[in-house]
Amino acid sequence: MSDYEILDPRFSALIISHAKLERLWTGARWAEGPVYVPAAKSLLWSDIPNDRVLRYDETDGSVSVLEASCGYHNGHTLDGQGRVVACEHGNRRIARLEFDGRWTGLVDRFEGKRLNSPNDVVVKSDGTIWFSDPTYGIDSSYEGHAATSEIGASNVYRFDPATGEITAVVTDLIKPNGLAFSVDESHLYVADTGATHVSGHPRAIKVYDVSADGGSVSGGTTFAVSDAGFFDGFRVDRLGNVWTSSADSVRAYAPDGTLLGKILVPELVSNLTFGGPKRNRLYITAQTSLYAVYLNAHPAGW
Ligand code: MG
Repeated sequence: MSDYEILDPRFSALIISHAKLERLWTGARWAEGPVYVPAAKSLLWSDIPNDRVLRYDETDGSVSVLEASCGYHNGHTLDGQGRVVACEHGNRRIARLEFDGRWTGLVDRFEGKRLNSPNDVVVKSDGTIWFSDPTYGIDSSYEGHAATSEIGASNVYRFDPATGEITAVVTDLIKPNGLAFSVDESHLYVADTGATHVSGHPRAIKVYDVSADGGSVSGGTTFAVSDAGFFDGFRVDRLGNVWTSSADSVRAYAPDGTLLGKILVPELVSNLTFGGPKRNRLYITAQTSLYAVYLNAHPAGW
């Protein structure tokens, strides 16, 4: 039985049709935030309700706990120097794992008010850190600490670690969630999971134009709409295709928004990232488990 649903011939060229989806590990309450750390030959991801960061060692397949009681991590990424950057629901901040093993808090406020609960993060080639800040980590005490939003809105922010400046770049979404730049960074994709709070709100990925100086965005048109649960986290491959989570699968969309195909996953997919020495292995966090599948695709920048 196939793990794939091919909806466009272009998808056939992006997959290895006989490569199986593998479940590498299970035992999380809600798996999220995968990041591949090449130097450690490891995939890190969050088990948010259990407040821990897990590590899959691809040299022997073992799984261990990297961090526990660490502030309810959600999304992760690497910066230009290969340092892990984390969204922390509990500490309501963006933090960075330094080379000496310490976590440094980078930003936790906007205009003097505490962030809600940073959800997902990406680092632009100029070193700026872009992250979404919906309320999922303060809506209850399951994935953080229940609290009222001080900001009163859920935005996407651009933070410059060189200057400490933080600006709200996307302010027109209900609950911005996953985000990624296009290959040339001229566009920013942002998922809106606002239907969790506003019934019937489109479960969409929006696409914005990034200004020439990289300091702001404009526009905001619908790139894709999900007919199966939410688009949460996603990544862009080097051809510009968007590989995104949904309730039943990982879906690949062409740059023009055409749904190319699906990798069927038996749990709710939350997020994904490219890894492995050749970056052709897609690691998938889905509800309680970590999955992986080899593709004929590579991440933007590879
Ligand atoms: Mg997310």
